[in-house]
Amino acid sequence: MSIRPSRCPIEGLGNDGRARMHEQVELFNAFFAAGDPVVVATVTGFLFLLGACAASFSCLVAFRLARLPEDRPLIAAISTPPSSCDHCGRRLSMLDLVPVLGWLAARGRCRGCGGNVPARYPALEAAMGLVCAAAPFVFGGLTAQCFAAVFVACTAFLAAAIDWENGLVPEEVTWTLLFSGLLASPFVTDVWSRAAGAALGAILVWVSMALIGWWKRIDTRAVGDVAMGAAGGAWLGLQPVSWWLFAACFVHVAICVLAASEDEEGMTWLPFGPALMGVLPVALAASPWIATPG
Ligand SMILES: [Zn+2]
Repeated sequence: MSIRPSRCPIEGLGNDGRARMHEQVELFNAFFAAGDPVVVATVTGFLFLLGACAASFSCLVAFRLARLPEDRPLIAAISTPPSSCDHCGRRLSMLDLVPVLGWLAARGRCRGCGGNVPARYPALEAAMGLVCAAAPFVFGGLTAQCFAAVFVACTAFLAAAIDWENGLVPEEVTWTLLFSGLLASPFVTDVWSRAAGAALGAILVWVSMALIGWWKRIDTRAVGDVAMGAAGGAWLGLQPVSWWLFAACFVHVAICVLAASEDEEGMTWLPFGPALMGVLPVALAASPWIATPG
């Protein structure tokens, strides 16, 4: 007499569903790889819109967070009343909120008072849209790496926008990026390599901040930057971390030169986060060339 293991019908259905979804994605990828115009246009259009909306949302959260009393939680910046004009307080319509096109349709002005809406908003939305739309071309179609890169780019943009406006990054954002990278980075094969990358990222950022602080005799401690170093390291793995941080330092210096505004003491204070986070998606794209195989 043999006892056959019983098979849960729901579990079986789940497996079939997953297999079907996997097949659909494979089919979609085959059409994408073959350059089918409808599939390519749908994928790039959707990803462009996703990136542009993520940028629009991030700028809004960063802007609101900077105008809230200190120590207010991130959720307070998201759940405050609907978006309105900075000049006249007019509530923005659905058309105004469409990324890039809303700004173009209104020719960069508020429909109520004619107040100027800075061009950096549609520019950032378009840039993020292009970054996300490029992901399937860089990572071989709708692969795990493509989805991961889009997620990292959007989360990194949120961290960078908040850091630029506020000079700090809420730990909800950095921890989300860190733990998602530790758990699921498709760029690093095993969890120990991710943990080692995170540790190295944190240590390198902490040591360089401590050295600058000691050299300039100023307090440069920034927990947010150390957390961002760890988060990037978790996604990248051990080998690409130092390259990523090296490139981020160059970008940071470039930002400082372009946006320099010295205060009375002749010091320029600019957060390191935007450079760290801005270079991260590029580092992910370059990581196969940096990391030695095996
Ligand atoms: Zn207005």
